Amino acid sequence: MDHLEEIRGRIGIEELVGSYVQLKKAGKSLKGLCPFHSEKTPSFIVSPDKGIAWCFGCHQGGDIFKFTQLVENVNFAEAVKILAQKTGVKLPERMPLIANQRLKTIEINEVASQFYQKKLEENPKMKDYFLNRGLTNETIQKFRLGYAPDSFDQLKNHLTEKHYDRKDLIEAAVVSQRSIADQSTYDRFRNRLMFPIFDHQDNPVAFSGRIVGQGEPKYINSPETPAYSKSLILYALNWAKESIKQKNVAIFMEGYMDVIAAHQAGTTNAVATCGTALTPQQLKLIQRYTKNIIFCFDGDGAGKEATFRAIELAQSSDVNLSVIQVPEGKDPDECIQKNPAAWQKAVENPISVMDFYFDQATKKFETQTVQGKKQVLDFLLPFIKTAKSEMEQNIYIHRLSLMLQTDPKLLWNDLRNLKSHKSHAQPVSEATIKTHSFTREEYLLGFIFSHPEIYPEIDKGLILTIPVDPDTERFYIALKTVYTRTSSIELAQIKEVFTEEDRERVEVLGLLVDEEYPDFSEENRMREVKKLIREINRKNLFNTQKEVEYKIRLSQDPAEKKSLLNHYNEILKLTLKI
Ligand SMILES: [Zn+2]
Repeated sequence: MDHLEEIRGRIGIEELVGSYVQLKKAGKSLKGLCPFHSEKTPSFIVSPDKGIAWCFGCHQGGDIFKFTQLVENVNFAEAVKILAQKTGVKLPERMPLIANQRLKTIEINEVASQFYQKKLEENPKMKDYFLNRGLTNETIQKFRLGYAPDSFDQLKNHLTEKHYDRKDLIEAAVVSQRSIADQSTYDRFRNRLMFPIFDHQDNPVAFSGRIVGQGEPKYINSPETPAYSKSLILYALNWAKESIKQKNVAIFMEGYMDVIAAHQAGTTNAVATCGTALTPQQLKLIQRYTKNIIFCFDGDGAGKEATFRAIELAQSSDVNLSVIQVPEGKDPDECIQKNPAAWQKAVENPISVMDFYFDQATKKFETQTVQGKKQVLDFLLPFIKTAKSEMEQNIYIHRLSLMLQTDPKLLWNDLRNLKSHKSHAQPVSEATIKTHSFTREEYLLGFIFSHPEIYPEIDKGLILTIPVDPDTERFYIALKTVYTRTSSIELAQIKEVFTEEDRERVEVLGLLVDEEYPDFSEENRMREVKKLIREINRKNLFNTQKEVEYKIRLSQDPAEKKSLLNHYNEILKLTLKI
């Protein structure tokens, strides 16, 4: 892999990104408008120190290779080629290693998927979850749904018996390594309902695991692996692509269950973004099959917000958009189960994007008060301004005048006075992105990575090390291991114990805290850290309590029930202490 190091040595991240994006110096780092999503205030940060570029708006970025992959919409091997050309590094004819690792990951995922399917058959209670949600046996088989048992090593043992190499299992991310100090591994997905994710060529590239019963996080997903880059994959495209071509339209949904229910109900051209907002790469991918896209997100506020964002992103591409409105407040999945006729009708009658905006305006604002009318205008006029022709604008202005009982002439004046294209969905979505983007566990890690000396305080403060948020679990376990061994934490050590991929997250999270709290005094920092610890403790205890409650309800064995009740009481005691 010394070719990669050679390329790295010849081009800095700031130089590479600077050739795509205009960057301005901001302290130790540089800032610019994100090349992956449309924005007006820069949230794209380039750190020459850390060697990464990262967007804190849409959560995409990485080192020079990852950045090239994303911005050029290519896989890793192709990104290496592009960069080799740019920097004049000569590559060997073939780079078999990378392609190999991808194939190995797919093979391991295939075996794991069969294992999860078998476990589902052996656990009727878990299968009932799917059956109770209205799925048929046939559907469960088609989508290869499964169950990851409540165990740290069943899958690991199964794969090891089949002689898969420990290192390959880690690369495929079906198991996690505790740390470099403690090389033991454990199953990544435990006690979860499993949805295998396939690429459009039908290769199993990743998994999403849904929690059994209540609790957070509801879904955990495979991280990026040699086979999986989440911004490049559309869930169910492997099953939907023929139907999309035939019907010449694709329906974009939010959740796995939505898509599966839709397929079962005959809407076989549905796909889902994989637990992310729609990405430009996904838009490019779908255009191989159709130029017509219908968004069908949840009926709640977050779903509407996702629709605004998706429309905004897609409008700059050459695609035709429309929207399916699921009856108020309902997920598509729920609607399909309860009222298949209403679903069918909604699918056959998608509304235009402008109808969607008008509809939202009447729901959001009062159309009869002066204040409300002004809000409607502020909201709708920018969209009308973007209409393709004056005739179209005329139709909408007329409609608006009826809605507000206002003279169309006045509205035309307002429209002309409106300064060029200015969309209102944008500030809203940026704000939403900001507040929901990082979990508390990640912020806390960020503080550790930018100020390792505070770790002892955190070690003392966290009541439950496991379960924390599963995506950050490894980090906490590794930190704990180092701390127990050396009774101190230093940045160099931290980097040493993490895998390559995790190291990137260490950098990103450190950068997050550096950026968001640039001039924090030590006192303010400790206050923030303590607040995070308190909130994490509260959440973990609450989740554990729910999980134990659920187990008590399921348990048939009196002895087991008794020990669960004891556990439950301990948790209650801890909850009272914080
Ligand atoms: Zn972005």
